[in-house]
Amino acid sequence: MKVLVASRNAKKLEEMRRILAEHMTTVEVVGLDDVTPFDEPVEDQPTFEGNALLKARAGVVATGLPTLADDSGLCVDALNGMPGVLSARWSGPALGSKDGQDDRNNELLLAQLNDVPDERRTAHFACAVALVLPDGRELVVEGRMDGRVIREVRGSGGFGYDVLFVADDRPGLTTAELSREDKDAISHRGRALREIAPLVADLLA
Ligand code: IMP
Repeated sequence: MKVLVASRNAKKLEEMRRILAEHMTTVEVVGLDDVTPFDEPVEDQPTFEGNALLKARAGVVATGLPTLADDSGLCVDALNGMPGVLSARWSGPALGSKDGQDDRNNELLLAQLNDVPDERRTAHFACAVALVLPDGRELVVEGRMDGRVIREVRGSGGFGYDVLFVADDRPGLTTAELSREDKDAISHRGRALREIAPLVADLLA
């Protein structure tokens, strides 16, 4: 049984492979770089669920394979839930490297929260994972990780806003200071993937 994960991110593909393998012995997970290239949709929906479904539906139409897709971001309470679905391009469209864009996003977020006192710097990461089957059946699950935005960048692991985020489940460390396994255990994406994996196994059985 083949499943497309609509992503080019090697870490995401690996995580999905590992979690699905716990529930299905015969699954082969392929990514976007393993299939014939197709026009990928612009992620223009107002919700994580909407964007995840958009990507998964496009994968099924283009490849005929059951397709999983995720969308995620950081929702900051003092910014009324922003950057949310705009997390990846919060400081503007990509110019050059992904790391450069992450740095600009983090600088902008820090500046916007400069006057926000510690007790109001609460935030959460959210992730929606969608499964769309060739017969039209669809399923979406969501995961979240609560925490707060600190005042200076710390740590060298992870990506994106990890250097600014301390999870309630691991106080004292940013998610960029956690091991990959430890972050997966508490993260929005890890939670959503672990919830959907047995459902994917059932649906594909
Ligand atoms: P995507 O869903 O992988 O495209 O992620 C959207 C954006 O949300 C990323 O570019 C990051 O800015 C942010 N983001 C999502 N998940 C995480 C995370 O686990 N750590 C840090 N940033 C994240």
